[in-house]
Amino acid sequence: MSAEIARLEGRDADAMRLYEQAIRSAREHSFVQNEGLAHEVAARFYAARDFDTIAHAYLREARRCYLRWGAYGKVRQLEQLYPHLRDAPVPASPTATIGAPVEQLDVGTVLKAAQAVSGEIVLGKLIETLLRIAVEHAGAGRGLLILFQGDEPQIAAEATTGRGQVEVTLRQTAVSAGLPETVLHTVIQTRQSVILDDALAQNPFSADEYICQKHARSVLCLPLVKQAKLIGVLYLENNLASHVFTPARISVLELLASQATISLENARLYNDLQEREARIRRLVDSNIVGIVIWDVQGRIIEANQAFLDIIGYVREDLVSGRLRWRELTPAEWREADEQALAELEAAGTVQPREKEYFRKDGSRVPVLVARAIFEWNRDEGVAFVLDLTERKHVEGALRDAQANLAHVVRVTTLGELAASIAHEVNQPLAAVVANAEACLRWLDRGMPDLDAARRSLGWIIDDGNRASEVLRRVRALANKTEIEKVPLDVNEIIREVTTLMQRELISHRVSLQTEFAPALPMILGDRVQLQQVIINLVMNGAEAMQSVTDRPRELVIRSRQEGAHQVLVSVTDCGVGIPAENVGRLFNAFFTTKSSGMGMGLSICRSIMEAHGGRLWATANVPQGATFQFTLPVNADIPP
Ligand code: ADP
Repeated sequence: MSAEIARLEGRDADAMRLYEQAIRSAREHSFVQNEGLAHEVAARFYAARDFDTIAHAYLREARRCYLRWGAYGKVRQLEQLYPHLRDAPVPASPTATIGAPVEQLDVGTVLKAAQAVSGEIVLGKLIETLLRIAVEHAGAGRGLLILFQGDEPQIAAEATTGRGQVEVTLRQTAVSAGLPETVLHTVIQTRQSVILDDALAQNPFSADEYICQKHARSVLCLPLVKQAKLIGVLYLENNLASHVFTPARISVLELLASQATISLENARLYNDLQEREARIRRLVDSNIVGIVIWDVQGRIIEANQAFLDIIGYVREDLVSGRLRWRELTPAEWREADEQALAELEAAGTVQPREKEYFRKDGSRVPVLVARAIFEWNRDEGVAFVLDLTERKHVEGALRDAQANLAHVVRVTTLGELAASIAHEVNQPLAAVVANAEACLRWLDRGMPDLDAARRSLGWIIDDGNRASEVLRRVRALANKTEIEKVPLDVNEIIREVTTLMQRELISHRVSLQTEFAPALPMILGDRVQLQQVIINLVMNGAEAMQSVTDRPRELVIRSRQEGAHQVLVSVTDCGVGIPAENVGRLFNAFFTTKSSGMGMGLSICRSIMEAHGGRLWATANVPQGATFQFTLPVNADIPP
């Protein structure tokens, strides 16, 4: 400005000095555009005063500066105004590999580089090639390719030159300390290249730690942008020389970068595709499920091993094109198949359904076509197929088992019922017979004892009634009618039973003792059923003492209150006792150790107890005999 003012004021000598000062200062601080401008106006100053040679020298310098700056429009303008400038040689940089102005770019080099880059589809190789070419052609000492992992810039590769060779290492590391971060962030933010001709000189990035420490001289940071999206950043540096990255080289690099950006995206897509395919492959090969690709014409185009295993074919059958799904489908499934196909074509997918395939050996295999997807554009579909053989087998087995179980249950309930009737009625019948025989004996006497005969007949009637009562109860049980529960005094029931059993006990030579708790609370129960339980326990006790000859055959029935809510009855004998191995089985239906035993008594007793909300169990006595006892819940509503 001062020079121009001096010119306008006619101070020519001042103007000359000030032009030179401006040029020097601009050069010192790397303001190439100012340097160019100063040269240009100085040239105009000298031309106006007819100093042609000097003017020409200044113009040449102006053109050189504009060229370096990349102001090609300005270069063209100067060349039009001053055609002789065109012949001016462009000074080469000290390490130039491409020393041509933009109009004279080495097309061959660019093409070769672009081809090398676009020829790589494998991401790793592409990164390596790209960085190598960039470093070689730019004359950089070191280069980094930075790619984005999401929003995070990461160093994907580093190239270093040494002994005339470029060494590239792929890596995946965070951007830190490897480059001037302020430069990188400016490029990321502005998406514009940053070029430092001489990083040591004063510039906006002078304070950057990296630049200070590493004494970087030439620095170039180039954004790789595709359709407004920043894909990566190319960073090049040369710590030995300044002004390495000339506009011509930058032009080449920019061309290369735009090609590389496309290739990088493609390679990345290809990489993703490969990974996805590998994942799908793993799924297909894992053979968890049969996968089959088919077409509407009926061909099976591809299938995994699991599917081939299901239908019993081998891969050669598939490759030969012999496998056709329509033929593999038994006739009765074909209509359903066609329906499913129509649905699939209409909706793109179809509900899972069961069907059958013919296996290679002609047998059939039940399958579930779990899911089918249709691809319109190719008239093809994919289906996932599960082998149902095992499940069908299990289902069949389950059905058989259920049928068997039902049968067994029917048979056992019938048998149980019959056995129970027989058992319960047998006792009164035996008593009836015994009493009838006794009655006959009283009558057959020379002097018939009519009173005794009458007594016997009375007992016969009692026994007969007991038997019919038992039958009534069994019938009620069979009809599933509820048992009749009434308030009962347990001591009274025991007393009734002992009266009923007196004769049996006498004939077994058993002496019976009773020890009753004086005031037992009432319980709710069915009189006849509870009598049956006690009769059973007493009879079992008597039978257990049948073989006892060395001691009195004593049977004790006790009753007492157990806590606040239970009444306990125990029947203790001094018979053969219970061997340990039988303790767990006594209450099983049909378990008996007696030659004429039925093994039903205890099992019925236990069900009766359970129906009364009570519990029945057995313990072995020391030194001999057994105790059977049961508890019954007290009826809280009834006062004792
Ligand atoms: P059963 O009397 O027809 O054998 P139970 O169900 O009444 O049928 O008895 C099953 C088995 O329990 C008897 O065969 C016997 O082995 C055993 N048992 C029952 N009561 C006693 C007892 N008081 N002492 C020893 N064993 C007994």
